[in-house]
Amino acid sequence: MKKVVLIGGGFAGSLIARKLEKHFNVTLIDSKNYFEFTPGILRTIVEPKHLNKIQILHKNYLKKTRIFLGNVNEIGKDYVKVNHQKIKFDYLCICSGSRYKAPIKEQNLIITARATHLRNNYDRLCKANKILIIGGGIVGVELAAEIFTHYPNKEITIVHSKNKLMERNNDKTIKYAEKFLTKKGVKIIYNEKVIDAKENGKIYHTDKNREIKTDLAFLCTGIIPNFEFMKKNFNNRLDEKSHIKINKYLQLEEAENIFVAGDVNSTEVEKTAQNSKIQAKIVVKNLISLEKNKKLKEYEQDRTALVISLGKWDGIFESNKLTFTGIMPGIMKSIIEWKEMAGLRFRR
Ligand SMILES: Cc1cc2nc3c(=O)[nH]c(=O)nc-3n(C[C@H](O)[C@H](O)[C@H](O)COP(=O)(O)OP(=O)(O)OC[C@H]3O[C@@H](n4cnc5c(N)ncnc54)[C@H](O)[C@@H]3O)c2cc1C
Repeated sequence: MKKVVLIGGGFAGSLIARKLEKHFNVTLIDSKNYFEFTPGILRTIVEPKHLNKIQILHKNYLKKTRIFLGNVNEIGKDYVKVNHQKIKFDYLCICSGSRYKAPIKEQNLIITARATHLRNNYDRLCKANKILIIGGGIVGVELAAEIFTHYPNKEITIVHSKNKLMERNNDKTIKYAEKFLTKKGVKIIYNEKVIDAKENGKIYHTDKNREIKTDLAFLCTGIIPNFEFMKKNFNNRLDEKSHIKINKYLQLEEAENIFVAGDVNSTEVEKTAQNSKIQAKIVVKNLISLEKNKKLKEYEQDRTALVISLGKWDGIFESNKLTFTGIMPGIMKSIIEWKEMAGLRFRR
């Protein structure tokens, strides 16, 4: 059996492992030993018990895959290096996802992509009166909604560098979110960037000289891909934002046995779990086709539907120009989470 190595057990990597483990000798290398439904992580800040619902050990849903805990720090055309060990492969799938960049150096700042950090902050959140959210993209908006739904008396401020929230979404989506937040008393500051933090994370300054005093701050700004293992041999395959450049079949340019799916690649689609899974399915198909000398399938960068939750009982469903709001999209998000996790827990 040929050897397939996967880097990262998030949405893309875990799906590829499940689909390929019957046909190949699969090794999943992940810096954590569990899969986590990241879109549900914001709820764990206000409901720590929710964490049990969104995590599952890789070994509990993978049947034949060899699971290797570690951080890949170098790759070549037929090997990866992890924990000073070299692992050879016939095919490699890079699914290492992304993390948040932290432009502001401050111990007290909570970075929303860091799940472990995030869920340990429940006590701090309970005690805080003033909360600052840096970044008004989808994550910042969902986080503000989660917090005020649970704690309506907390004073929440969002600082956003653009002139509207979630600027890549439809106007109706944006207006609904804005109205939803402001009606509940969330203060939104537009066209300003937070540039530094002082007093152990109690005072922040924006580029327009505004001073914001807060008890707790969350950083919800743009993501950066986990690309560092590319530097030694494939630095020229990174784009200007350090995403891994790929061809239309999701292969690394000039290395057709290496596929790249999810947040880490250079596709222009929104970096979502849904898109990571769509790409993972293409990778599975193409890897099998390559093995059988069949034609590969192109990845079409379509805009996919999006569900944005505004607390447990409200939300927005957006598909192309269509937007639905209210309780149904709110519930939809919980159903998607339940379905994803049940699919892993009860996998036959
Ligand atoms: C707070 C938050 C809310 C979100 N909400 C939504 C939502 O509602 N809907 C939606 O569709 N998307 C949402 N997203 C985006 C979604 O979570 C990501 O697009 C998705 O997780 C990307 O999947 P992935 O498989 O590419 O990478 P990830 O899920 O990031 O997984 C990457 C894996 O690779 C591992 N890894 C990284 N580097 C290495 C290395 N060098 N060696 C070994 N392992 C490594 C990581 O530990 C991780 O396990 C949200 C993201 C955040 C942060």
